[in-house]
Parts: sequence; C-alpha cells; structure tokens
Amino acid sequence: MHSELEQLLILQDREQKIRQIGAEIETVPLQRKSLEAQLAASKASVEALKHRARQVEIDRKKLELDVGTRTETIARLKTQQYQTRKNDEFQAIGHEIERYENEIRKIEDQELELMVLADKVKADLAEEEKKAAAVQQSVNRQMADLDQKSKALESQLQGLSKERSELATHIDEDLLGLFERLFKSKGDAAVVAVEHGVCTGCHMKVTTATASRVRAGKEIVSCENCARILYEG
Ligand SMILES: [Zn+2]
Repeated sequence: MHSELEQLLILQDREQKIRQIGAEIETVPLQRKSLEAQLAASKASVEALKHRARQVEIDRKKLELDVGTRTETIARLKTQQYQTRKNDEFQAIGHEIERYENEIRKIEDQELELMVLADKVKADLAEEEKKAAAVQQSVNRQMADLDQKSKALESQLQGLSKERSELATHIDEDLLGLFERLFKSKGDAAVVAVEHGVCTGCHMKVTTATASRVRAGKEIVSCENCARILYEG
C-alpha cells in the first residue's frame, strides 16, 4: 500500500476516535443535569410531605380552637340558663347548648380524621425520606463516576490529539487538506476500501481503470462518485 495511505488510515482512526470521544464528552453535562433533576425531584417529594404534615397540624389546631370557643360558649349559656326564671327562655338556651354540643361532636370527628391522616402523612414522610437518602447516595456515586469518566475521556482526547498532530506532520500538506475536508464533509470516513470493485464509502462500482490504479497502489486515487480516497481492501 502507498505509504501515505497507511499514514492517512492511522490518522483517520485517531480522528474517528477523537470524534467519538468528543461526542461522549458532550453527553456528560446532560447526564449531570439528569442526576441533578432526580435529586431535586426526590427532595421536592420530601418537602411536599413536610408541608402537608404542617398543614394537617395547623388544621387540627384550628379545630381544637373551634372546640374551645364552643365549650366556652356552652359554659356561658349554662350560667345564663340557671339565672333565668322564664321557662321558654330556659328551653331556648337549652336548644342552643344542644346545637353547640352537636357542633363539637362533629368537629371532634373531623379532629379524629385529621389525626389518622397525620399518622399516614408521617409514615409516608418517613418512607419518602428513606427513599430520598437512597437517591442521594446513588446520585453521589453516579456523579463521582461521571467525574472520573469525564477526566478519563479528557485525557484520552488529549493523547489522541497529540498523536493526531504528530501524524499530520508526516503527511503532505495538500493531501492532509484533502483528507480533512473529506473527513469533515462525509461524516464517517475520508479513506475507504475498494472491495470487489465497489467503493465501500458510497457503495458504487468504480471504473476498471480506477480499480487497477488503486490496486497498483502507486498514487492517491479518489472515488469518481463520492471523491473519497480509495485503497485496495
Ligand atoms: Zn465512493
């Protein structure tokens, strides 16, 4: 094989690796964001339950106060009832006391429901906090892995870039320019094999003349269809 072609193939291998690693490095911030989002969602669930627990407690205290004011009212009404000498007034006050007592029973039922709810929220919160701790641990571990991976990729990229620059110094400037243009525009490879008379870059048959020039390996030959540089596969 033409010695410059061999150099180009090595260069192409490094360029492909550089491109692949570059693409991997680009996903790192997205992966970080996704982990941060997981953590934030888990913390938000805990906060929502804490807020719910506080709200239930506030509602329960409010009901307690409602019972308190009604109890005071009943005490006041009872005093009035024993002070009155009028029978109809005595009865009217009695009805009012009964009404307040019924209200208190209803409020106490609500209080009981809230206490059951408070227990449930408390249990849910404990469960969610346990889950959040596990998420935090897992995210920490994955973040550390990601940092490590990111560093490894950066160092691989540095090594490959250095190798790439060194290789490039051994290649004719015009040929290097052609290679770089093709590599950039084709997206996959600039240098491809001819197999059974077919260019493996564009999958078109090359002319017999082209095929024999490639086989001779004495010069740089381009595919007449896709312009990629050809070598005998
Ligand atoms: Zn081709």
